[in-house]
Amino acid sequence: MSQRRRHPRTAHPELLLILGSGLTVVLIVVIVAALLIREHASTLQAATRATTNIAQLINADVLRNVELYDLALKGLIAAKQREDLAQVTPSIQHLVQFDLSTAAPFKGEVLLLDADGTVIADSSTLHPTPRNFADRDYFQVHVREPQTGLFISRPFKIDCDCEQVWRMAFSRRVSGPNGEFIGVAVATMRLAYFDQLFSTLTIGNSSSVNLLNNRGILLAQQPLLERDMIDKDLSDRPNFKRILREGMGSFQAISAISGKERLYTFTNVGELPLIVVVALSSDDVFAPWRRAALLTSGATGILCIGLLWLTWMLRRELRRRFRAERVLSELAATDALTGLANRRTLDERLRLEWDRAQRSTEPLTLLMIDVDHFKAFNDRHGHQGGDEALRTVAQVIGSNIRRPADLAARYGGEEFAVVLPNTDAKGAWLIAEHIRSSVEHLPRVAGDQRPITVSIGMSTWHKRSGTPLEALLLSADQALYEAKHTGRNRIVDADGL
Ligand code: GH3
Ligand code: MG
Ligand code: MG
Repeated sequence: MSQRRRHPRTAHPELLLILGSGLTVVLIVVIVAALLIREHASTLQAATRATTNIAQLINADVLRNVELYDLALKGLIAAKQREDLAQVTPSIQHLVQFDLSTAAPFKGEVLLLDADGTVIADSSTLHPTPRNFADRDYFQVHVREPQTGLFISRPFKIDCDCEQVWRMAFSRRVSGPNGEFIGVAVATMRLAYFDQLFSTLTIGNSSSVNLLNNRGILLAQQPLLERDMIDKDLSDRPNFKRILREGMGSFQAISAISGKERLYTFTNVGELPLIVVVALSSDDVFAPWRRAALLTSGATGILCIGLLWLTWMLRRELRRRFRAERVLSELAATDALTGLANRRTLDERLRLEWDRAQRSTEPLTLLMIDVDHFKAFNDRHGHQGGDEALRTVAQVIGSNIRRPADLAARYGGEEFAVVLPNTDAKGAWLIAEHIRSSVEHLPRVAGDQRPITVSIGMSTWHKRSGTPLEALLLSADQALYEAKHTGRNRIVDADGL
């Protein structure tokens, strides 16, 4: 019976290989992911910086422009408050009143309203047509709230036969010598100014630049994302709520209009109640990053799959090699004809069990088995028949030993040996007798009158005997010799000699 031994070496390199390449793959994925995340963060940072610059640029231009309007209003008010101006001709009065208003771009009308809201001076004519603007928000604010400085109105369209374009008004209160309300100075501006200003900036498709007042009313948007957006109240939209609350900053959120993610960067226009909002499409911002990420992750994926494939191939090769090694080592330990352990294995195991017996002081028995008159059997049945008989005898011997530590081996020629660790003479005799009688009762080989028989020499090492291993072998051999000389087909115990 061949003794199978496990090879713990097989599991070890395989585990190392799988662990090693698994860790490498995880490490590669982690490094690539970390790099992509960092790249994403710096893309966002660069976009925020660029949009902040755009917002600042708009901020500066709007501020300068509003200042020009404010200067025009202040000039008009100062002229109105001068007593001595009444002495000069109306044309000189007109010149002085509207002197500063000429510089303002996209200028509409500059008007002076009296305490009832009626136009008393108009920048465009010496003789203003009688009109009343008492119902306008800018007029009412100054009546209601004397402390209001420069007021910026909601966008509006003038109902006249002139151009129907969006305008907004800048206005200031005109106070009398005792601080009483005597009128309002107002200058209107065409909102086309913002469109012109915003269109000079390249910010990419599906992105927009917006100008709102501090109550969330949209004054300008370029490009227009929806129809009729101007004068729309956006203060109830979550993103604009946040913008109005924070006044300045940057964040990413889903747009209520497009449903797509946008990067909002916004800033207050100086001290004015205006906010510039640059909304960049996240798709535009991250398009180059997404391309690079796709390429990098694709390449990384291929690399990892390649690595895993190589690992798998290597593991298969390792397994094949170890299997081959195991077969080879089993072959090296087995007798080719009978399948029992060979002489080399017998020597190793005998030495091992001997040492163990010395330590444990348990008995150790050795059986030496020799087929009787085998030369004659060979002569009768030929070498082939002899080989077959040897195989059958080996099978009988192997099937009669049951414990894992027992070993049956072919000693050489038609001789066999059985090592029985932890077995005393009595137990071993029973096994030997089993083997002997089983062989004797094997079916006869065709045409042969005589049964195959074996002679068995048996020797037991026990604590008392204290003999060396060589002595055990020798005494088993002598017992076998004795069994041959006393008639064969029998067992002789060396202890009885
Ligand atoms: P004894 O009863 O005294 O043991 O007589 P014997 O004939 O068995 O002993 P001997 O030592 O004279 O002969 C052993 C024979 O066993 C010689 C050889 O032809 C045969 N033999 C040894 N090995 C093999 C083998 O592998 N195959 C075959 N067919 N025969 C073998
Ligand atoms: Mg012999
Ligand atoms: Mg023999």
